[in-house]
Amino acid sequence: MKAFTYERAESPAAAAAAVAARPGAKFIAGGTNLLDLMKLQIEEPVHLVDVNRLALDKIEPTPDGGLRIGALVRNTDLAADERVRRDYGVLTRAIVAGASGQLRNKATTAGNLLQRTRCPYFYDTNQPCNKRKPGSGCAAIGGYSRQLGIIGTSDACIATYPGDMAVAMRVLDATVETVQPSGSTRHIPIADFHRVWGDTPHIDTNLQPGELITAVTLPKPVGGTHIYHKVRDRASYAYALVSVAAILQRDGSGHVAIGGIAPKPWRVEAAEAALPQGAKAVATRLLAGARPRPDNAFKVPLVERTLAAVIAQAKDAA
Ligand SMILES: Cc1cc2nc3c(=O)[nH]c(=O)nc-3n(C[C@H](O)[C@H](O)[C@H](O)COP(=O)(O)OP(=O)(O)OC[C@H]3O[C@@H](n4cnc5c(N)ncnc54)[C@H](O)[C@@H]3O)c2cc1C
Ligand code: SF4
Repeated sequence: MKAFTYERAESPAAAAAAVAARPGAKFIAGGTNLLDLMKLQIEEPVHLVDVNRLALDKIEPTPDGGLRIGALVRNTDLAADERVRRDYGVLTRAIVAGASGQLRNKATTAGNLLQRTRCPYFYDTNQPCNKRKPGSGCAAIGGYSRQLGIIGTSDACIATYPGDMAVAMRVLDATVETVQPSGSTRHIPIADFHRVWGDTPHIDTNLQPGELITAVTLPKPVGGTHIYHKVRDRASYAYALVSVAAILQRDGSGHVAIGGIAPKPWRVEAAEAALPQGAKAVATRLLAGARPRPDNAFKVPLVERTLAAVIAQAKDAA
């Protein structure tokens, strides 16, 4: 690990200003992703701004009947919150499908959204990787790509966004709240938060330098059956090959988002109109333009089959 300096932020605006003032500075929350990347010298921040003591750890009702989740709410606390379990079950299910109990006790809402890809070549500093080192190439293209993306990818990078929680937040139409170094605030729909990165895969999100996430808000509950179905190589401690977050209504309508296949949680609202026609019709629309590689072409039928399982589960539950 390389030497770095450290400070503890006193307010959200001060934290944002502190990171903006030092090129190469980063926020640290639970540290469960950032510290691993620092030990491998994939991330080399010169200065860390610790946000853990900011008062951003509450889950509160919003005036329009939704919930506001502070950026520092730990994954365990968010999944266990009785309002979340009752009204946003897909979120609880997605969170507990990720990582391990110990990790979820430390991991925060904001840090989880910003976790970096799990492409094996991103972690191997002997390999070219445009995401780690812009312009160096992509070892995964022509290499081992079984876990990697099939849609929204580019000739520069075929990695996926690896997280579970954000897939549920996408189906719930969450909004990310931030404070900028100037002190002004911003509301970013989750659909626009993660990037389809094209030829700049080193930039994962649309956050500006120094912009601090302060909360994530959920709109008022929409009812329905909430399901998160994660297909992975092992029953725990493994990232999704494909995951489906779904909110399905008795009349067959609903919303679905897919994880494990793209640079961001993948949702195509127009595809949801096909839900009453079944999984094949939805998957065809969701995956229009997909560019699977020989190693990961199995994800195309896997999306359809996972959707079919989710639709069947919702019918059983109704
Ligand atoms: C072995 C292992 C298995 C895992 N399995 C899964 C899994 O199956 N599914 C899954 O979804 N996740 C999984 N994870 C990832 C885990 O969920 C993340 O590491 C965790 O959520 C990151 O949160 P954190 O608070 O520790 O972030 P940190 O490591 O502290 O930070 C991550 C990034 O977010 C930035 N950041 C933190 N807070 C803010 C803020 N408020 N505003 C702006 N930027 C901020 C940091 O600068 C850093 O770049 C796994 C992790 C490990 C180590
Ligand atoms: S797929 Fe992306 S993260 Fe993986 S090696 Fe290529 S550029 Fe790097």
